[in-house]
Amino acid sequence: MDHCIAIVLAGGSGKRMKSDIPKQYLPLKGLPLLFYSLKTFEDSFIDEIILVTAAGEESYCRENIVEAYGLKKVTHIVAGGKERYHSVMKGLSVIDECDYVFIHDGARPFVSQEILERAYQAVKQYRACVVGVPVKDTIKITDKNGFVEATPDREKLYQVQTPQVFSYDLIHEAYDQLARSEQDLLEKGIHITDDSMIVEQILHQKVKMTDGSYENIKITTSEDLLIAENLVK
Ligand code: C5P
Repeated sequence: MDHCIAIVLAGGSGKRMKSDIPKQYLPLKGLPLLFYSLKTFEDSFIDEIILVTAAGEESYCRENIVEAYGLKKVTHIVAGGKERYHSVMKGLSVIDECDYVFIHDGARPFVSQEILERAYQAVKQYRACVVGVPVKDTIKITDKNGFVEATPDREKLYQVQTPQVFSYDLIHEAYDQLARSEQDLLEKGIHITDDSMIVEQILHQKVKMTDGSYENIKITTSEDLLIAENLVK
């Protein structure tokens, strides 16, 4: 049997939400937003959950989410870092060994069992996969003055979501190398916005795109919260 660990990220400051309460704790139909994805992992084949919170919010999360809702698979609650990838590093640092790591944004409450299952099948075959959906709009690349530079072929474009899933050896090696080359990437102006980017660009490993869903939205602004209210089943 494979041992699968989920790292659920809730260490962001949520500045774009313009709310006093960090967005991951905002109520969605009476339950904290972060609870939804944790519950999906809790009810799945995943063996362990590592929850990454903002520094200083560990005991709030333990009492008000993990213990309050009886989430038994949460084995560690750790403080995150400045950027998302620092938070992933903190999560990875408490793993001794496992087969697959599912990295998920706690700000995506509507990840489903079907998505987890599809990602699991893909990672077993390809060692690295991300979930995503085809873009609906035409996407333009602009130059620094805001003029259109190129129009990539829409047929090839996906909007990437989480979970992003990797075999443990691969993601461990990728983040190890990132820690050593971080300064170099920053100097080159490379912004790391997801995990797959690190695996692609540092290890040159092929990453498989797997079906996510249009409901697997990330709650970033207050408009997203209104959409989320309508999506809660
Ligand atoms: O900022 P963004 O919306 O891209 O964040 C995606 C996810 O990563 C969120 O769930 C957020 O809480 C988490 N995050 C984190 N540590 C950071 C920044 C973001 O855990 N430093």
